[in-house]
Amino acid sequence: MVRVTQPTTDEIAKFPREFALFTQIPGAKAGEVDTEALAEFVKTYGTGSAPSGGELAFADVAAALKKKGTPIEGTGNTIAWAAQDDSGHLAPYKFTRRDVGPDDVAIQIAYAGICHSDLHQIKNDWGNSSFPMVPGHEIVGVITEVGKNAEGHFALGDAAGVGCMVRACRECEECHSGDDQYCTRIVFTYNGKDWGEGGVDTQGGYSNRIVLDHRYALKVPASLPLVAAAPLLCAGITTYSPLKHYGLDKPGQKLGVVGLGGLGHMAVKFGKGFGQEVTVISTSPNKEKEARETLKADHFIVSKDEAQMSAAVNSLDGIIDTVSAGHEISALLPLLKTNGKLILLGVPTEPHTFGAGAVLFKRLTIGGSLIGGIKETQEMLDFCGEKGIVCDVEKVDIDYVNTAMDRLAKNDVHYRFSIDIQGSLIDE
Ligand SMILES: [Zn+2]
Ligand SMILES: [Zn+2]
Repeated sequence: MVRVTQPTTDEIAKFPREFALFTQIPGAKAGEVDTEALAEFVKTYGTGSAPSGGELAFADVAAALKKKGTPIEGTGNTIAWAAQDDSGHLAPYKFTRRDVGPDDVAIQIAYAGICHSDLHQIKNDWGNSSFPMVPGHEIVGVITEVGKNAEGHFALGDAAGVGCMVRACRECEECHSGDDQYCTRIVFTYNGKDWGEGGVDTQGGYSNRIVLDHRYALKVPASLPLVAAAPLLCAGITTYSPLKHYGLDKPGQKLGVVGLGGLGHMAVKFGKGFGQEVTVISTSPNKEKEARETLKADHFIVSKDEAQMSAAVNSLDGIIDTVSAGHEISALLPLLKTNGKLILLGVPTEPHTFGAGAVLFKRLTIGGSLIGGIKETQEMLDFCGEKGIVCDVEKVDIDYVNTAMDRLAKNDVHYRFSIDIQGSLIDE
């Protein structure tokens, strides 16, 4: 056991990365760290030799955790990887984030998940991209600065997260009802214009730090490993929110999940967390083993297998459809019970078609949902902390990000990439 003195605010300002790493070493916040855990952190993240035994000053630990990164050209207080145009290629980039204002917190980023929408936006697939663009809205890290009005909400060293939004108007009906994700003045975490800051371009989590209004930052439960918690900020809330909103969160309900990717695998985990009987519906029979054994789905249906589909007619209370490729939703409707709900989370390029008869003869609901509000995102994180729910991730270094994007385009990921920002995006 090593006793370590707690850092001063000056030391935190001087060594934000090392401070963020320090807070993640078991026991560090209480001032007593396990010698082996410290050695492991120094080996993974630092270049110094691990101080062993006795009493240490935080500065000694910080020195051991220090590592020199590859120099990145440009000026600014933030290093990142950005797309400069719609080629979709990401490269090192430097820019300036605002100083921490009274309402703000600064977060030293530990991990950033790669969401499919990052890929769409760096390639300008939706026609609304502005460059240079630092993507990333599945952000987790550690609080390193707290504005005056944020005190009491966040403290230095807290694990914190940022999802898809960094501001909303706080005045409209949606903001008042906790549906701030539908606020017409929403500011997205990246590829947005922040009207609260004179219209500056927002930049996302493929960067070493972020500054935002604390009312849009989330608390990450201490029990969750940060690397696997990052994707909860988008993939997690995107599946949790519709389950809650449409009342598909009751124990004993029968839930169908269409598509077993980043979103689908989270829907399975939430369904099981709610105590439901979960059926995965997929085009790939080879996903069955994984669905049943790893994700603990109760049933698996191959959607092209007519016998399996007819055996499941009138069996489900709800279906979460995560598929973005074109597919026939009319084939899914018969699986629903009376009053059943089909919730769409994917956006295929072609419109869906279905017969009204199929809907009215069983009083079905076809609905949709977009991410989730801040209050609900916090509720989701707390639920995950309680149930031990995280994403299944593949940890990658920032240098791998272009390869990761190529693989994501082919759906070759299991189930989410989580970029090791603190281990691979380092200042000189
Ligand atoms: Zn996303
Ligand atoms: Zn609003």
